[in-house]
Amino acid sequence: MTHVSSMELFLLKKHYCVQCGNRLNRKKIIRIIDENSEEAHKHRIGFVGDIGGSDSGDVKLTTYYLECKECNRTFTVKEQREIEKEKKLLKKEEKRKQKELAKAGHKN
Ligand SMILES: [Zn+2]
Repeated sequence: MTHVSSMELFLLKKHYCVQCGNRLNRKKIIRIIDENSEEAHKHRIGFVGDIGGSDSGDVKLTTYYLECKECNRTFTVKEQREIEKEKKLLKKEEKRKQKELAKAGHKN
């Protein structure tokens, strides 16, 4: 069984621009950073990106971001996650309100 992180799962799904609704493109950045750098530690702990070791003590850091070609905006995975979480909450709230309105309507 291969381990799939929640970030990978997130990236496999379709995502849409909060501004124009256009489908977002997944972009990949690969950087080589020092194994002992604060950034390497941060990412290893946070499981952001995929780090593969090398002999020189440098590590390959792969990070993803999402890009909207329509409005030239980019979103980090974290940003897009927050946006979608908020959207979900709004939808839930909207549904709750509609239910309440329907209930109130029946009373009269
Ligand atoms: Zn857009």
